Amino acid sequence: MLISTGIPTEEDLQGVMPPAQRRKLGPVAMAECFQKIPCNPCVAACRQKAITMGNDINECPKIDFDLCTGCGVCLTKCPGLAIFIIDETYGADTALVKLPFEYLPLPQAGQYAMGLNRAGEELGWFKVVQVIKGSARNLTHTICLEVPKELSMEVRNIREGGYRDE
Ligand code: SF4
Ligand code: SF4
Repeated sequence: MLISTGIPTEEDLQGVMPPAQRRKLGPVAMAECFQKIPCNPCVAACRQKAITMGNDINECPKIDFDLCTGCGVCLTKCPGLAIFIIDETYGADTALVKLPFEYLPLPQAGQYAMGLNRAGEELGWFKVVQVIKGSARNLTHTICLEVPKELSMEVRNIREGGYRDE
């Protein structure tokens, strides 16, 4: 149960997951935000107006996957580190997962980091394609990770430190 474990259930995920058909078209955001808390910077961050919340700031955000371009701005503005960008068009067998990260040290592009699932379990070493550093006022960095396509909906974090060069 999410409230006691911090891990969303399959049912939770099905409710926020971009459909497979949409994922075939290019990068798209997925907000894994399931608790009713007063928070909405993601809504304001999206210039495409793809994220809505209704009139109650406690509601969970909803993403219109047809409007979303996968730009990743919302990912950097979410204090809950709950938004991910998935690009299943990245390679023939690989996908690019962009995930928020606030630990130091950061990996460098070209290094390999241990990818973790939502439960913190290790999934393997994956190549860091790019690191987009946050600003002085926003220390949410974006890690762009190349993963096997079948793990695009599984890899949601990296283990901090211990990065490998290959
Ligand atoms: S990735 Fe960009 S377009 Fe998509 S919801 Fe986030 S801010 Fe909006
Ligand atoms: S900014 Fe993040 S934590 Fe806040 S409502 Fe949006 S997705 Fe949820």
